[in-house]
Amino acid sequence: DKPPTRVGQEHPVTVAVRCRPRSREESVTSRPQNATATYVPAVGGKVVVQTEGRHATEETTEVAFDYCYGEDVKTQQIFQDLGQPVLDNALRFINGTIFAYGQTGSGKTHSMLGSPEEDGIIPLLCKELFQRLSVVAASRDQACPVRLAVRCSYVEVYQEQLTDLLVAKGKESGPHNFKPLKIRDHPQLGIYIQNAEEPEVKTYQEILNMIHAGNRRRVVAAHAMNERSSRSHAIFTIRLLEITTARAGNVSVPAVRRWSKINLVDLAGTERQKDTQARGIRLQESSNINKSLMTLQNVILTLLHNKEHPSHKKVVAYRESKLTQLLRESLGGNACCCMLATVSPTHNCAPQSVLTLKYAAAAS
Ligand code: ADP
Ligand code: MG
Repeated sequence: DKPPTRVGQEHPVTVAVRCRPRSREESVTSRPQNATATYVPAVGGKVVVQTEGRHATEETTEVAFDYCYGEDVKTQQIFQDLGQPVLDNALRFINGTIFAYGQTGSGKTHSMLGSPEEDGIIPLLCKELFQRLSVVAASRDQACPVRLAVRCSYVEVYQEQLTDLLVAKGKESGPHNFKPLKIRDHPQLGIYIQNAEEPEVKTYQEILNMIHAGNRRRVVAAHAMNERSSRSHAIFTIRLLEITTARAGNVSVPAVRRWSKINLVDLAGTERQKDTQARGIRLQESSNINKSLMTLQNVILTLLHNKEHPSHKKVVAYRESKLTQLLRESLGGNACCCMLATVSPTHNCAPQSVLTLKYAAAAS
């Protein structure tokens, strides 16, 4: 009795909205009459946001999505709806992306990475991936020349520049390689980042250690709205490779037969700069952040247009931002693309929540 999922089907993007729970302080300080009026996740996937209109009347914005998650929904549920289909497809060598989009403080990092209280989509997906791989490996006999390998990369896009968040074993104590990296396109292996680490990972624990080490390297700038706010896009990529070993005389030569990629993206905060008292470098950051987010929206809208009007296809502007260049293979074609738009439950965030919902609605 699960609603039919559009993931990987005729529609390019599955759109879900999540409203995070109120924090303890928010429960105390927010006006009680707004407690339920601000954000109402209605049954049937509708979201209703109430904002104060010009004449102190309430204005209602109501949008329908593939999935709507209220304050009490656990990340495990969201993983089942979005993460499982993406993983299922990756195991069939179809690319996928899940990105979290929303204002700073709305729960993007909590949803993707998790926090001490709850695992995020990334660790949940990795855990399930290794469970599935061990089942596949156990069902194959020892002599099988085919094996599945997992490689991971973790990069950050900050001010339209790419930084590798992973550092090779043995180089951990040396100077970090923060020089900008270039995106390349390999004829067989697709998009990759030149000189970025993409180590093979064999266990769930290994992948977790990598993610934690990468997180410590993320650029986190102090910010008027939320000091933990991140001004960069973080892209965690899992590449699944099917490797066959052919015999050439006496030597065995491994070759990649098929591969797929899963991109799990924690986007930068979407708030407008005037809300955050941005000045100087922050202002430049904000315009670059917006450029990536705007390009992402343009790309999605063009993909939607091309699906609807196959005889009048438009050129997709992947090249206009680093983010969309990196995600290209996992946005178009038959890729599984999921957007998780996150909103805060409080009244003062309602105007931003409306903007987030509009961006999300445009993609659905
Ligand atoms: P963002 O990454 O969008 O800036 P965070 O994920 O850091 O936002 O969330 C802001 C705060 O709210 C954090 O303290 C986080 O732990 C908490 N939070 C967000 N979503 C949830 C949730 N679903 N359940 C419990 N706490 C949450
Ligand atoms: Mg965050």
